[in-house]
Amino acid sequence: MRIFIFCLICSGLLLFTACGSKETRVPDFDEQNALRLLLKLVSFGPRSSGTAANLRQAEFIAAAAEKYGAVTARRKFKCMTEEGLLQFVNIEVVIPGRQKAFIIIGSHFDTKKLPAGVKFEGANDGASSTAVLLELIRTIKDSGIRPEYTLKFVFFDGEECFTSYGANDGLFGSKHYARQLKAQNPASPCRAVIILDMVGDKDLKITLPIDSDKRLSEMLFKAADRGGNAQYFDYLPAALLDDHTPFQEMGIPVIDIIDFEFGPGNSFWHSSEDNIKNISAKSLKIVGQTALNLIFDEEFAKKL
Ligand SMILES: [Zn+2]
Repeated sequence: MRIFIFCLICSGLLLFTACGSKETRVPDFDEQNALRLLLKLVSFGPRSSGTAANLRQAEFIAAAAEKYGAVTARRKFKCMTEEGLLQFVNIEVVIPGRQKAFIIIGSHFDTKKLPAGVKFEGANDGASSTAVLLELIRTIKDSGIRPEYTLKFVFFDGEECFTSYGANDGLFGSKHYARQLKAQNPASPCRAVIILDMVGDKDLKITLPIDSDKRLSEMLFKAADRGGNAQYFDYLPAALLDDHTPFQEMGIPVIDIIDFEFGPGNSFWHSSEDNIKNISAKSLKIVGQTALNLIFDEEFAKKL
């Protein structure tokens, strides 16, 4: 993912009514289970696109979602890359809502291909958001609560570029998925895209790219506040290129839930310091619970 300096702006839902009061039940996010999932993902080793480890991890993700009882599809495709023609796979997991209209909740699961000899776990960049998505699926399925919108959890392959981002390098999975989405029936519109990326930093500060959809961003900040976590969320005074970008270019409201300050000066990013020691379960909880608070928010359900 690449940063663009943009400007200097700093800046089943179970409802029940009793005695005229109304209460919304939001499931609890289990951060210890999310951490166990993260450790499992890291155990596959470096997981760059087109490698055997990447495909083994993809199969683990799909099998886990199926075990949780969710409808799961493996969407394979090939792309010509600087490494030659590579096999990619997006994993799509659907939880039906009251409406056919859907929101996409996405994370990339591939890891950056680093030079041989660099010990790279991708515990934050790749595994953290992937583990949170899997735990969200498990939690929502177990809760039995039907969300208002259909939820499409998409695990994108090929977010990382091999050399530098461009028309033929990087965002392979999200670009492919967005192209498929364009060709789909408009009767089932995509109302929003929520991307999670690098959400495990033990020194967590989520900063939404400044060009994120304002209404969605405000809903997310309120969802964080309801969990007592407002201090961990803010805007980044810059735009980012990430898996939300292909959908943003289609005019769909997007937010990218990312902490792009991993270690001093982001020095842990794409380095051997992106390891389990620099991750915390508490950060997974903050992000996972905020996502649940948002998904099961009445305002979110009504206003999209
Ligand atoms: Zn990366």
